[in-house]
Amino acid sequence: MPDLISFVIPFKNEEEVLPQLLQRLEGLRSRIDGSTEIILVDDGSTDDSAGIVARAMADVAGIRLLRLSRNFGHQIAVTAGLDYAQGDAVIIMDADLQDPPEVALELIESWKQGNQIVHAQRNRRDGETWFKKVSAKLFYRLLNRLSSVEIPRDVGDFRLIDARVLHAIRQMPERDRFLRGMFSWVGFRQSIVKYDRAKREAGVTKYPIVKMLRLAIDGLIGFSDAPLRLALWLGAIISIGAIFYGLYILVLAVFTDTLIQGWASTVVILSLLSGINLLVSGVIGLYVGRIHAESKQRPLYFITENLTGGPDDAET
Ligand code: UDP
Ligand code: MG
Repeated sequence: MPDLISFVIPFKNEEEVLPQLLQRLEGLRSRIDGSTEIILVDDGSTDDSAGIVARAMADVAGIRLLRLSRNFGHQIAVTAGLDYAQGDAVIIMDADLQDPPEVALELIESWKQGNQIVHAQRNRRDGETWFKKVSAKLFYRLLNRLSSVEIPRDVGDFRLIDARVLHAIRQMPERDRFLRGMFSWVGFRQSIVKYDRAKREAGVTKYPIVKMLRLAIDGLIGFSDAPLRLALWLGAIISIGAIFYGLYILVLAVFTDTLIQGWASTVVILSLLSGINLLVSGVIGLYVGRIHAESKQRPLYFITENLTGGPDDAET
């Protein structure tokens, strides 16, 4: 039987670029050895994006539409698509053509050579602000330093995964999904294909700085407990400092005539310490918040319309 390759493509308000995407994919599909299905996940679009996909479904076979009940965010939308994918290999990519669909051919080739996760790694980032480039670089460096998994640099969500990996990921029910971390964590035979990240073809980014930050924090908290250990280190350092300072004062008081004084320094030290205290409680709060969210055991998403041909109860 020929291989089935699934594409999982989340979108939110991409009506400007979807027609181009569908066209590029059509050109690509004929070049793929095997059959294909394209799962487009509507992450709560408020424009005509879903309509465009629905109309395309009427003309072209193998296009599937999965509509979430509201905007759940990119990572959850990908997760939903993965839950419905039936392929022997699944390719995850963005709808805005920043991930050139043609790279899929190289991903598939690497998969056929036996690799089970093929990450697409960006060479260049055209049309992205220096801020995004620098912050992304710093973030990956920090994350790899602090976390137990090695996440390849400059790798986003564009990748191919084998059905076995898909099965593994489906068993990871965590709410705060930092998929690129999860894909590194599961192991399997991994490889990297390099590509030039293109400009967004049309429309605007749906990842403003606040969302980027949130994703970064998800990554850090989800894959490292270093921030928690921070409290221990800060506490230890400050306590040792305080002991020595106390001894010093004691020596001054006992052996010299110096008058011990200084409410100003007391205020400074007090406010510094309470600042650190709040900071550390905040960090712990982040972890407790995760526990709270996990303990509610809510489904990750809801489907309002399932035009994938897959079973309706696939949601986790
Ligand atoms: N996206 C989504 N839900 C969201 C935000 C974005 O499904 O809440 C989709 C978006 O339509 C695109 C992909 O995720 O297909 C990547 O988003 P975007 O291009 O805006 O991010 P950037 O490339 O600027 O980081
Ligand atoms: Mg983009």
